[in-house]
Amino acid sequence: MKKLDKPAILVVDMLNDFVTGALACDRGRAIVPATARLLDAAREAGVPVIFCNDCHLPGIDHELALWGDHAIAGTPGAEVIPELKLSEKDYVVPKRRYSGFFQTSLDILLRELGVKTVVITGLHAHMCCRHTAADAYQLGYDVVVAKEATDSFTEEDYLNGLAYLKTCYGADALSNDELIAMF
Ligand code: ZN
Repeated sequence: MKKLDKPAILVVDMLNDFVTGALACDRGRAIVPATARLLDAAREAGVPVIFCNDCHLPGIDHELALWGDHAIAGTPGAEVIPELKLSEKDYVVPKRRYSGFFQTSLDILLRELGVKTVVITGLHAHMCCRHTAADAYQLGYDVVVAKEATDSFTEEDYLNGLAYLKTCYGADALSNDELIAMF
């Protein structure tokens, strides 16, 4: 199987508040084992694992009016879920909007790592994953999505998210086995 061209894994918003906290989501809990497996395989293969984490300033962040308080900087809700075993070799990029790129250091980090392909994982396929994929594509990265390691509040939102990523960014939705074989 063809290898991915200089991949990195982007883990979007797999934080306590998104999985078990303020914006808890059963479908988010369901992808935890598959996500953990993919991240372990990536680390073992030397593929960078980059957490794109909501990190909101209370009282002022634009998004909070729409969604209520979540992932407030410095609170447990803004921490990566323990099952994904954030390692000191992983990277963490805080964000204050849906996209992992918007007004963050993600692009310069990817460039310094020599990354060409981003593997999108996390929550939610049709929202923060989609906005992150949009910016990745527009900045010139190839985009693929880990279909077992992303989801949305509903099946419909999940499928719509994957379809949008395929249509607009050419992002294939790949299984863990397929991805791991391509590292
Ligand atoms: Zn947010």
